[in-house]
Amino acid sequence: MSFANAPSLHGTAATYETGLVDIAPGVCAWLQPNGDWSESNVGLVIGDRAAALIDTAWDLPLTRRILGAVQQRTAEPITKVIATHGDGDHVNGLQLLPQAELITSTGTAADMAHESPGGLRRSYLGARFLRTFAPGPPRRFGAYIASMMDPFDFRGITIRTPDRVFSSALTLDVGGVALELHHLGPAHTSGDTIVYVPERGVVFAGDLLFTGVTPNSWSGTVGGWLRAIDKIGALDPSVIVPGHGPLSGAPELELLEQYWRWLEQRTHQALDQGASVYECAREIVFGEEFAERPWGAWVCPERTVLNVEIVARSRATPFRPITHRQRPALMWQVARLHGELQAARA
Ligand SMILES: [Zn+2]
Repeated sequence: MSFANAPSLHGTAATYETGLVDIAPGVCAWLQPNGDWSESNVGLVIGDRAAALIDTAWDLPLTRRILGAVQQRTAEPITKVIATHGDGDHVNGLQLLPQAELITSTGTAADMAHESPGGLRRSYLGARFLRTFAPGPPRRFGAYIASMMDPFDFRGITIRTPDRVFSSALTLDVGGVALELHHLGPAHTSGDTIVYVPERGVVFAGDLLFTGVTPNSWSGTVGGWLRAIDKIGALDPSVIVPGHGPLSGAPELELLEQYWRWLEQRTHQALDQGASVYECAREIVFGEEFAERPWGAWVCPERTVLNVEIVARSRATPFRPITHRQRPALMWQVARLHGELQAARA
């Protein structure tokens, strides 16, 4: 498939190949450019008379498309499916693999229990209503949320319960290929898990690695995320499949580490001077230094609000993660910053 002709799900020009690509013998990834909201990647490991899928998509039609590509690639049955974390864009298609054993960390199992496909449909209808009929900031919020969801169809989704959970690490055999699961959260979410294929030197990092996309933390501190990065780096993989973005390796992992260190330092400076979370995020993304750094060109700079919020929360003891109920209020500010960035670019 030529990516030059295929726009991203969100309608921007794709900057890398879409679809199932071979990474190593019997190891593939479905890449979903450009890694924006819910443009998430999926992994595939093929063994002898067995295969494992790592994550699914945000809805059933896209998951069916991915499974169709998998069937073209291999006749081996998918006997195991691993969810790297509990966000809907990675778990909403799991029901299409009812015969495959679903394995997650305990944190992911808990996060999945919060996912509500009915709530998602209602949010979409509400956001579309605001986008069409509301004035001012509610319209901006509705437009942002609705555009995130426009490429997807949330009908028919049911959330699966994991068949097997583990707390820190687990090794699986998939038709003779070893898969090491390591729980490295909380960082992006509490359950963050990586899947390491030692014989092939491949790590599926889930949303512990975003490449070319501003990451965001819901559940962990910057320190927690940096420890996860260290552990991935210590495996010395030749390829890292990020949760969002193109195929990566050590340089992209290092860049993410630099981003977090920089973001944390700039946030503390601004907060020390009395800035609010929103003011701090605004100051960062409109600053000259941001534009000069590699992350100045990353997708979704407005997510800086979420990361500043996490750093602000880490100044208090005990640290309190962003709960599912607190997400909409923060997304209101994310939409506001997106609006300001759009206006500045126009
Ligand atoms: Zn994701």
